[in-house]
Amino acid sequence: MPKNNNKKIASDTTVDNLIKVCHEIAKGKGWWDKERSDGEVIALMHSELSEALEAMRNSHPKEALAEELADCCIRIFDYCGQKKIDLGEALLKKIEKNKGRPYRHGKVF
Ligand SMILES: [Mg+2]
Repeated sequence: MPKNNNKKIASDTTVDNLIKVCHEIAKGKGWWDKERSDGEVIALMHSELSEALEAMRNSHPKEALAEELADCCIRIFDYCGQKKIDLGEALLKKIEKNKGRPYRHGKVF
C-alpha cells in the first residue's frame, strides 16, 4: 500500500524536530543512498540562496522568496541530521556571541 504523502508533517517547529523531519524525508527520497561530498551538499545550499536572489530580481511574490529560503533551511536541516550536528545549540551559542559583538560587528558592510 502506498504511503500517504499528503499527510501533514508535525507542526512542531523546534530546530531538533525540523532536523529530524527533513532528514527522514530526504533519506526516504534516496538523497543519502549514496555517499555525498560535503562540498556537494554545501553547493546545493548555496543554489537555494541563488534561487532566492533570482526570485527577488524577478519581482516574484514574497511567497516565492520564502519558499527558496525554506529550501535552503531544509537542506541545512537535512545535512545536520546526517552529520548529527546540534544546530539548535549552535544557534543559541552564536546568537549569544553576536550579542556581544560591536556595531555592525566592526565591519564596513
Ligand atoms: Mg529551490
